[in-house]
This record gives sequence, structure tokens and C-alpha cells, in this order.
Amino acid sequence: MNRYSIITEKNPREIVLLKGYKCAYGKCAFCNYILDNTDDEKEMEKVNFEVLKNIKGNFGVLEVINSGSVFELSKATLKKIKNICDDKNIKVIYFEAYFGYLKRLDEIREYFKNQEIRFIIGIETFNNYYRTQVLKKNFMLNDTVLKQLKEQYQTALLMICTHGQTKKQILSDIEQAKKHFKEVVISIFIDNGTEIKRDEKLVKWFLKDIFPVLNKEKNIEILVDNKDFGVYVQ
Ligand code: SF4
Repeated sequence: MNRYSIITEKNPREIVLLKGYKCAYGKCAFCNYILDNTDDEKEMEKVNFEVLKNIKGNFGVLEVINSGSVFELSKATLKKIKNICDDKNIKVIYFEAYFGYLKRLDEIREYFKNQEIRFIIGIETFNNYYRTQVLKKNFMLNDTVLKQLKEQYQTALLMICTHGQTKKQILSDIEQAKKHFKEVVISIFIDNGTEIKRDEKLVKWFLKDIFPVLNKEKNIEILVDNKDFGVYVQ
């Protein structure tokens, strides 16, 4: 387990993996990280305050993830993040926020008045069928929704190389993510005990034919291993 790390390439930043309340949605078929969620506020804050002590502010940029959304962090945790960011002169904070929180993002922007807030959303794929029926992530994209997401979110997360995906779908997802979002994080799926399974043929193809060139793009980060950002629980 490691809950604090420094990312030095492309978009240098500190990153923390905090403990949050239960993900408000909690039904994505591929998700096992919600096992880190807790209802015990004391436990949450004990872990989070300890992790947050590591923050140095040396890049002026902090990413906060919590196996859910920023809205699932306790008030005391948010206050601690705010105080640390103000003290350490952190100007940019990345937070994750599930689609269902789209209308509430300004609450976070207002709370962190001294920082630029950049939101991250797990789109996973632009294929509505695959997202909703296979991955069980329950939102549909159309032009209107996409327009809102582009305005509100900085970063799209894609999950690739799972059974049922095709090369064509993966390439199309990457193209659309690049077109609509300023930053893209692509995770190659790793089997995690859920019903979603990794497709080794797709992984081989992606690593050999796509990764070497795509990985040179400054605004695209590719997680070949889910520990590549240096923070993980399992
Ligand atoms: S919204 Fe995110 S944290 Fe919640 S179940 Fe889905 S992938 Fe997991």
C-alpha cells in the first residue's frame, strides 16, 4: 500500500490516494478499489491526515484521488487539503468526480477559491453500449452531455484491453478522448477479481503497435500497470 507519490514526467505533481466514504454509485463491474471506502469517519481522517503530511508543494500541483469522488471525502479532510494547499502555495488541484456530480462541481471550485480545480472523469469508453451494459457505468454520452463534460472536466480516464473491446473501439476511444479533453489517462486493465477480464491479445497489440508513439504525447499518460502513478492499496 502506498498513498503518496510524486509524478515527475509530463505533468509533474504530487498525488495522494485518500480514504473516502462509499462511492455514491458503486456499481461499476470492473471496480474493486471501492473496497478502500469506509463509513468510519475517524478511521478515514486518521489515514488521510497522515498521508497529507507528506505534501511538500514542490510542483504547485496536487492530485487527490479517493476511490470515488471528491464529494465522498469528509469535511475535515477537505479542510485539511485546503489549508495545506494554501500553506504550500499549491495552485492547481486535480480531483475525481463521478458523472452524477456534474451539477455540483462548482461547490468544490467555490470552496477551493485559491486554487484552480481540475476535474477528472472516468469515461472508460465512448461506446455507450459497452460502458453501460458491460462495464455497468450508468451514463450515456450524446452531443449535449459531451459538451457539458468538456466544459467541466479537464481529464478523461479510459480503460482499455478488456474482453469484448476491439482494436477499432480502443483507437476510436483514444481519438475521441484526445479531441474532447485537455488531458487523457489511459489504463490498461489488470485482472482484479471482478467479472471484467483483461484481453492479453489486445494488451500485446497495444504495447507493441500503439504505446511507443502514443506515449510521447505530452497530455496523455498511460498506466501499463495500475501502480504506475505510485499510489495503490492492493
Ligand atoms: S464510479 Fe468510480 S469508484 Fe464508483 S464504482 Fe464506478 S469506478 Fe468505482
